[in-house]
Amino acid sequence: MNPIYQNLKTYFGYDSFRPGQEKIITSILSGRDALGIMPTGAGKSLCYQIPALTFPGLTLVVSPLISLMEDQVAALKRRGIGAEFINSAVDINRKQRILSNISAQYSCNPPAYIRRTSSSSSSAFHRCYKSTPIKLLYVSPERLSAPEFRAFAQKIRISLLCVDEAHCISLWGRQFRPEYMKIADFIESLPVRPVVAAFTATANAEVRSDIIDNLKLREPYVLTTGFDRPNLYFEVQKVKDKWPALSSLLTRHRGECGIIYCLTRRTVESLSRKLEVNGFTVTHYHGAMPLEEREKAQRDWLGGKRNVIVATNAFGMGIDKPDVRFVIHYNMPGSMENYYQEAGRAGRDGLPSDCIILYNYRDVVINRFFISYAGIMPGDMVKGGEHRSVSIIEGVYVAIDNDVDLDELRAHERRKLAAMQRFVAGDVCLRQYMLGYFGEHAPSYCGKCSRCLSLIPFGQHQTSLIPDVESPDLYSELRALRLRLSRKYDILPHKIFPDKILHVFARARPRSVPAMLLIEGINFVSVFRYGREFVEEIRLFVETN
Ligand code: ADP
Ligand code: MG
Repeated sequence: MNPIYQNLKTYFGYDSFRPGQEKIITSILSGRDALGIMPTGAGKSLCYQIPALTFPGLTLVVSPLISLMEDQVAALKRRGIGAEFINSAVDINRKQRILSNISAQYSCNPPAYIRRTSSSSSSAFHRCYKSTPIKLLYVSPERLSAPEFRAFAQKIRISLLCVDEAHCISLWGRQFRPEYMKIADFIESLPVRPVVAAFTATANAEVRSDIIDNLKLREPYVLTTGFDRPNLYFEVQKVKDKWPALSSLLTRHRGECGIIYCLTRRTVESLSRKLEVNGFTVTHYHGAMPLEEREKAQRDWLGGKRNVIVATNAFGMGIDKPDVRFVIHYNMPGSMENYYQEAGRAGRDGLPSDCIILYNYRDVVINRFFISYAGIMPGDMVKGGEHRSVSIIEGVYVAIDNDVDLDELRAHERRKLAAMQRFVAGDVCLRQYMLGYFGEHAPSYCGKCSRCLSLIPFGQHQTSLIPDVESPDLYSELRALRLRLSRKYDILPHKIFPDKILHVFARARPRSVPAMLLIEGINFVSVFRYGREFVEEIRLFVETN
């Protein structure tokens, strides 16, 4: 069997690659640089994690956020893949241990104590790292400028250097990070140039050429997969008073998981209070909340204790919750880039999900105000340099390089806002406009957005999220059971069974554990652990109905 398929199955449990993954993996393994432009949720990580397993040397992953690194490394470890991260939050002892393990594994010149006697070398080697060999090391971009790290990197064998969220290198991307500009310099300091692969979800042509130029990619294989997310329904509502529109949307989506994005912290606070008063259970998140509160809000939402989170655009980067059924923009965001990224958090499991913007002219005014008067937090003022940095976040330009021409930046932000306004106020198919904005050609009718559907006589809209013959009652019973189990065993609900599988249960009504094992894509471990309880629930439902 082709080793990349073997690794896909053994380590990740998947049978097939998603569009583009195999091509870019094969190309990286052949030693060619690569640039992968794939939408959020398309599976970019796999494109460098699989080569990392095959390459003889270390794979160094440059990633902009501590939380992203931690999530990825934890996920890799769960899959039995050796991975570590080093950032300002890792204490010195741990850092030393990780670096010396890696040195022992990949040293161009093995350490003296290994070289001393060849007979004892293997045991000394194993004493260095008893656990799984470290195949991937995640670092922040600023780490690459640290002299100790450079000295370390020069002595080991690095096969692949991967730049995740590579749009951070471009001033015209959404999240400029000055430290990304120094990556090319780091690569040049290495005795042997590794394969360099960059990944981003930003398809904009300026950003693409900035990545290739600034990272000095050598004739990279460029992969662009489609930006369309066919399972997402897009809608724009122009409303004077947003409250009635919002509460009717939430009533329709009761019990489902969703995000409500607002432009300001104040709106987040007042709206979440109003929702609570009106009987909706929500949590909220913005940058001015104390860290513990933010973490708790995130945990409650991720764990399904609170289905809905009201947040500013400070929330969401690195969040990979598969069953988000709706993303509502209570205010129009400032750019199509922001919108696509935020709305794209819906429906990662491929099930139908709704993305809705409630907008009125006040939103334009707020965005204009941000662009003109937003405070500026220069790059070197961001503590540790590892904090989230978006060009405008909660009304502040964050991590802006000191040399940036602010007038030019503002003019650029105004152009982006104008494109966003044309999206909400125009009359063309929302999907066509959005894909066109990201440089893709699309038909003028998608049939799955409010503009296209407004052409169909009312009543024929296909808005139901649930397949025809399925029992919605059983589905909600199964969801309730899953939530109980999730609390009992302290495990995330979708880790027990994702929504997709619960839908199949509700439709196919398996009456035994073995019958469950026949369901395509089902996680066997979950079947053995929790299957019986679901079988009981289904039986009970069938008997009482
Ligand atoms: P991105 O970085 O492009 O936003 P991720 O790499 O975080 O996306 O992947 C998103 C999700 O898709 C993850 O849960 C991942 O496990 C899943 N995934 C990736 N590749 C595949 C595949 N070939 N088959 C099934 N699921 C996949
Ligand atoms: Mg990613």
